[in-house]
Amino acid sequence: MDISVVVPLFNEAESLPELEAWIARVMKANNFTYEIIFINDGSTDTSWKVINDLKAKNPCVKGVCFRRNYGKSPALNVGFERAQGDVVITMDADLQDSPDEIPELYRMITSDGYDLVSGWKQKRYDPLSKTIPTKLFNATARKVSGIKNLHDFNCGLKAYRKDVVKNIEVYGEMHRYIPYLAKNAGFAVIGEKVVHHQARKYGKTKFGLNRFVNGYLDLLSLWFISRFGSKPMHIFGFLGTLMFLVGFIAAIVVGASKLYAMYHGEPYRLVTDSPYFYIALTMMLLGSQFFLAGFIGELIARTASERNKYSIREEI
Ligand code: UDP
Ligand code: MG
Repeated sequence: MDISVVVPLFNEAESLPELEAWIARVMKANNFTYEIIFINDGSTDTSWKVINDLKAKNPCVKGVCFRRNYGKSPALNVGFERAQGDVVITMDADLQDSPDEIPELYRMITSDGYDLVSGWKQKRYDPLSKTIPTKLFNATARKVSGIKNLHDFNCGLKAYRKDVVKNIEVYGEMHRYIPYLAKNAGFAVIGEKVVHHQARKYGKTKFGLNRFVNGYLDLLSLWFISRFGSKPMHIFGFLGTLMFLVGFIAAIVVGASKLYAMYHGEPYRLVTDSPYFYIALTMMLLGSQFFLAGFIGELIARTASERNKYSIREEI
């Protein structure tokens, strides 16, 4: 099979028939063999019924129905597990992404050697309250992930080599950072294609402004996990040891200077009257805490199911 189109959706009943017809038209015109996997993420409208009707007309349509709303990431993840095509295309169900981009995306993966091609909504049809924070979001994501050539991390329209989707796990709200997940899994050839974007035709957006707060926190977690996830001691142990040593030396200096003063008959005071004593104490306490955090992190990393996960390109 050439192409799997993965479409996560939550209450998009009005858009689905148009979307399916459009995708089918493009596939037919280009002679692609394909499947469309609709993942109904706990819709409360008639979306699932619409998908059933579409399936009755077109055997290339497949559907997965969640029992409740889990979010876009779990929906994509199921789609990735099911996908059988050589190239996997994800797109939103709201008709904001155009299926006409599919042939070129397919060509970029199969002929140009890209592992992942992300759409870039260069001209967006979204409210300003969304486009401006998005610019900031993308600049931060570029910096942190080190994928410098992407302008639009969270574009719903993306194409993947099959290997990529079988080697990453999209969880929580990590769908915003799939290129980063792919990079961490060793897929380095990541490209971009300018795509057409349209205003939402039916329904309304499913994400509010809190997407930017959560997105920022997720980015921090991803960065941290990719740097220290498998070796937490390297950061916490280092910081902990350093702090403890500084505190320890400071404590000795405080105590020794008092002994020195006593011995030489100079005026002296209680060590607890010296601010340095408290600084030393805090440093030693924090230092041991950091160290312990590192140690516990190591114990967790040791048993994590991913401790030895590698994606292999080829073997002879
Ligand atoms: N979506 C989903 N589960 C959710 C929220 C959204 O499957 O919990 C789907 C939604 O139906 C759409 C896609 O994710 O197909 C993108 O959502 P939306 O268009 O609301 O996001 P925006 O375009 O505003 O970023
Ligand atoms: Mg949308």
